[in-house]
Formats: sequence, structure tokens, C-alpha cells
Amino acid sequence: MEKMFKFLRKSRGERHKTAPAVTTGDTRVELAITASVQSDVGCHREINEDCSAYIDPGDGDLLSAKGRLVIVADGMGGHSAGEVASRMAVDIISREYYDSAEEPASALRRSFIAANREIHSNSTQVQTRTGMGTTCTALVLRDATAVSAHVGDSRLYLIRSGQIYLMTEDHSAVNEMVKRGLLTREEARHHPDKNVILRALGSHPEVEISSWGEPFPIRGGDRFLLCSDGLYDLVEDKEIMQAVLAADVHSACAELISLAKDRGGYDNITVAVVGVGVDGPTSSSDIRQTREAQVVV
Ligand code: CA
Repeated sequence: MEKMFKFLRKSRGERHKTAPAVTTGDTRVELAITASVQSDVGCHREINEDCSAYIDPGDGDLLSAKGRLVIVADGMGGHSAGEVASRMAVDIISREYYDSAEEPASALRRSFIAANREIHSNSTQVQTRTGMGTTCTALVLRDATAVSAHVGDSRLYLIRSGQIYLMTEDHSAVNEMVKRGLLTREEARHHPDKNVILRALGSHPEVEISSWGEPFPIRGGDRFLLCSDGLYDLVEDKEIMQAVLAADVHSACAELISLAKDRGGYDNITVAVVGVGVDGPTSSSDIRQTREAQVVV
């Protein structure tokens, strides 16, 4: 089923990249980052309107200042406009983020604002793109910290110490009902309004962006997973965790896409998995329960 306030999606095939270890400035911590980003049109759609990217700037200074960026966007709009919107989001955010002289958190927010503005402007100039928009969830890993920004119902999970944490809050009608106690999370998965989202990049001149109040400390062994709803509509959170823990990042992405397709693959499916090497920091600090972090298993 297509979104009401979103409708289509885009895929960018598959990327798999293993980054070299990096030594951070003050903490002298080695963070060996591995990442895989894969997308599949699914079993019913003719086009893939999800778009995704993993960007390793590959330059010492830029890597040190801005880290690595992962983006998943899930576009919506008729006449392939969703494909345009999600591609614009990935292109604009990756460009604006690395061009900015600001710290990662503020640079990421500004890149989302720029993407919203450009997508909305484009939608008002091209008749076939009227109303187009896209979800977008982005993660930056820099030194021993992560920052994130998020609009819509694509998700970011953290798998740590045998648990999976949902680190974003869906900007969706059913999630609002869950928060008000009107639906359980399981009921929300099957609710007829489950495709109604409340925020998207490009749908309005202004957008409210969700992000963490401060950088989130990461540890060796952490796994981050970003995905479009084509995955989590069909694959349980616990299954996502098991797949991520059972394999390398590349195989985990492939396995999860395969699982969603085995169950119908009704939507485009995009999965990004980022692994932090076990030689990374071993801080024993607990996960801080931000407004958008909750244990889901
Ligand atoms: Ca979708």
C-alpha cells in the first residue's frame, strides 16, 4: 500500500564499503567501521523510490571533521516524483553536510532544511511533481559519537549487547495513536492508516526535524541499522537484530531483504547496516534514553 502523504520510492542498488580504521583526536580510539547499503524494488512495485547512500569522505581532514554519513530516504508522489524527491534528499543532504563548516549535528540539521526547501521548491515548479516528498533518516559516525536527523517513518535502530533499540520515532498517524494508548505497537503494524505519515521533506515550505540533543556515544560492537518501512512492516524487530548479529554487514542486509521479499515484498526495501569494530571504545555507560530511544525487544 502506498503512503497517503507519501507514495513511492527509489533504490540505488547496492553499495558495500569497508572503511579503514581511524584514530580519533583526543581519545585515540580505533574505530573500524564497516557498512553496507542495499535496496530492492520488492515483489510488486515497478520502480524503486527508496534512495540511500553511505558516504566515506576518504580524506583525512574531512573524515576527521565530519565523519561518515549514512542516509535512507523513501520518496512519495505520482509520476515517479517520489523517485525524484528521495534522490534529491540524498544528493542535497550529502552535499550540504560536507560543505558546511559547522559541527556535525548542526550541519546535518541544516542539510535537511536545505533539502526540504529545494524539494518543495521543485515540487511547486514542475506540475507532475506537485505534492512530492520523502522521508529521510540520516546517521553520522564521527570519532566515538553518532548524531542523527530524521523526518518521516524510515527508521534507525541500534543493536547493542544483545538488544535492539529503536532510535527514531515514526512521524506517522499510527505512532501518534500508539503514544496516546489507542493502539499497541503490534496493532499499529496492521492498521489501515499505517501508511499515513505526518512529516516529510518537501511537502511543506518548513519542516520539523527530529534529532538527538547531543552526540550519542558509540561502542565497539555496536551495529546501526537504517531502513525504509518496506523492511519493518514485514520483519519483526527481534528478527532484524538476529540477522544483524548473525552475519557481516553485507550478508545481514541481503538476508533481511530476502526475508521481506519472502513475506510478500509489497513495498520497496532498503537496509543499511553499519558496524563499529570490536576494537572500538568499551565505555560501560548505559544507553541514554532520549525522547526517541526505546528498547523494543
Ligand atoms: Ca516505503
